[in-house]
This record gives sequence, C-alpha cells and structure tokens, in this order.
Amino acid sequence: MIEVKELKNTKEFEIFSELAEHDHEQVVFCNDSETGLKAIIGIHNTVLGPALGGTRMWNYPSDAAALNDVLRLARGMTYKASISGLNLGGGKAVILGDAAKLKSEAFLRRFGRFVESLNGKYVTAEDVNMSPEDMEYISMETRHVTGLSESIGGGGDPSPVTAYGVYVGMKACAKKVYGSDSLEGKSISVQGVGHVGMYLLGYLAKENVKLYVSDYVRERAEEAASKFGANAVGLDEVYDLDVDIYSPCALGATINNDTISRLQCQIIAGAANNQLDDESIHGEMLMKRGIAYAPDFLINAGGLINVGIDYLGGWNKERIYRKTEKIYQTTLDIFKLSEKEGIPTQNAALRIAKKRIHEVGKVKRAL
Ligand code: NAD
Repeated sequence: MIEVKELKNTKEFEIFSELAEHDHEQVVFCNDSETGLKAIIGIHNTVLGPALGGTRMWNYPSDAAALNDVLRLARGMTYKASISGLNLGGGKAVILGDAAKLKSEAFLRRFGRFVESLNGKYVTAEDVNMSPEDMEYISMETRHVTGLSESIGGGGDPSPVTAYGVYVGMKACAKKVYGSDSLEGKSISVQGVGHVGMYLLGYLAKENVKLYVSDYVRERAEEAASKFGANAVGLDEVYDLDVDIYSPCALGATINNDTISRLQCQIIAGAANNQLDDESIHGEMLMKRGIAYAPDFLINAGGLINVGIDYLGGWNKERIYRKTEKIYQTTLDIFKLSEKEGIPTQNAALRIAKKRIHEVGKVKRAL
C-alpha cells in the first residue's frame, strides 16, 4: 500500500500535470547508486532541433524543487533558441546534491552515459557548479556536449558573445527610447561585474558614458571602477540611482515589487536570466511606468548562439558575432509588436518565439 499520509502537498507529485502545463515533451530521471548520481534531464521541446541546455548542480531542498527548476529552465531554453533563429530546442539538466562532495570522474562520466543514452535528443553544456574540467569528463562518454574549452577544440567562454548581444540589445533600446542608438552621454548602471559584466563594460566605456557598477565581491566592483572609470556603488543603492539605463548582470528576479517603484531608468537591458520576478505582472508594471525592457532571454542569447553553432557545426567567430548582432533588429521588432498589441515586451518576445516554432513545425511535417 502507498503511504500518502506524510505528503504535505500532493500537488507536488502530480508530475504529468506539471508537464502538461507548459507542454514538456520528456523528463528523464537518472539514478546511479554506485556513484551517488541523481539527475533529472528535462526536454521541453524538440520541434526546431535537439534540446540544448546546460547542466546545473545544486543542493535542492527537495526532489520537487529540482524538478520544478529543470522544467522552468528547459522551457526558457526553447524560447531563447527559437527567438535567436537557432535550429535547436530547449532542454536542461540538474544534478542533485553537494557539488563539493559528490563530483568525481566516475560520477561525471556516469552522467555522460545518461546523456549519451538519449542519442542527441538532449545536448548538454556548462552551467552553475559545473567546471570546464567536469565537462571534459562528461564528454568522454558522450558526443552530445558543447561549450567545451578552446584547449580541447570547443568554442570556449561564451561570455564575450553574451556581452556583445546585451550591448547591441541595449543600443536598440536607446534607438527606441531616444531616437538614436548612440549611448553617448548616457548614465548606465551595471549590476554584477563578473564574466559578462566586465566584457559589457568594455563596450560601454568606448561610448563616452557615465558608468556605475556594483558587485557582491567588493574588490571586483573596485577593479571595474578603476579599469573603466566607473563609480562603484552599494548592492542596494543600485536600484535608486538616477541613471538612464539599468543593466542587471548578476542574478535573476531583481525586477520585482520592491525595485520597480525605485528604478529611475528609462531602459532595462542586461544579461541575467529571469530578471522579472513574476512574468505575469512585472512586465506589465514596467510598461505602465514607461520603462523599456529588453527581454532577457533575447538579449543574453549570444552565449547560446556560440555554443549552439559550435554543436551544430560551422562555427567561426565572424558568423557567431553576425548572428548575435541580429539581436538589435529583433529587439526593435519586439518593441513594435509590444506597442501594436499593447502587451509587455516579454510577452511580445514569447509570441515571436512561439510563432517560429509553430511555423517551422508545420514545414517539418509537410511532405
Ligand atoms: P558571473 O558569476 O561571472 O558574474 C556574476 C557577478 O555578479 C559576480 O561577480 C557576483 O559576485 C555578482 N553578484 C552576485 N550577487 C550580486 C548582487 N546581489 N549584486 C551585485 N552583484 C552580485 O556570471 P556571468 O557569467 O557574468 O553571468 C551573469 C548573469 O548573466 C547570470 O545571471 C547568468 O545566468 C547570465 N547569463 C550569462 C551568460 C554567459 O555567457 N556567461 C549567458 C546567458 C546568461
């Protein structure tokens, strides 16, 4: 008999209704007692091509939390790939547990075997708590891995390409709001000066702008300040600055009930994933405040373009940057649709991404 008394929230266990809610295709639960590996591979949609998305290792509070995370992230990858014009679907993998304690060669290679068993339907890459060395172990067991270090023949660090996409997306926002895509004379705050933030500052500093930076690691903010002539500000202060453009490049959910009323910018354009704390209300709130928001999954897609084309074949630097540059035009198209339909830019971007999946899907089904 199944013991259900202890289940606090039976809804958590209704896996198929979770999958049906956003139309996920497949979920693979991977278990290996020998190495202690527990992983979930989420495949959201493969209409456009193999489901690509990184592997994240995290000590989740529960299996349901891990499942929820992988489903949400896989879905995001579908739309990011679609709006970027890539022939890729959306997927993601999570490995459950403490990365510092569990990872070993056998553990990672076992995960690689699971990826290989899907025959290329899912393609993995690096994500939180996975290093280039970890990816190298995974790649010993599967061909379906991308974003490997340049030293072993991969496309290398995607951050410079991501930063370039954010930069051109920001310029498109300026075109929309100020009538010119020059950033000259604008004040811009960059929240988080890690891999992407630092490269982004390199582009911005060339445009004679006034820069503000904040970072959880104080020395990093100070390094950015001295390198690019920026002002280092406090972690919370960044939301109250009187700037033209706010660029979230640290973590998600920084656009929320608390911060929206504090922001004084006219534009938000940054690299962080899932910037809107609650998509169903915060896009609308930004629209009402007259803040032009560049949907994160579009303007931070440079990294995916880099690893995606590395996997699909035909990678060269010029091609990657040319494709990333299209983010400029797509951002303008999104503003146009948003205005025409009276919908938030996030919703307009999703509409464009879904339309491509629908149309290409029909082409693929035709004789
Ligand atoms: P990173 O870890 O190199 O940099 C993030 C920086 O943010 C770090 O310096 C960290 O100290 C800082 N930070 C953390 N919390 C902060 C806070 N509360 N306030 C200010 N700073 C804080 O990461 P990254 O590769 O530069 O990526 C930045 C963001 O962009 C992440 O959200 C990532 O998911 C997203 N992103 C990155 C890529 C890529 O190619 N690297 C692609 C798509 C999306």
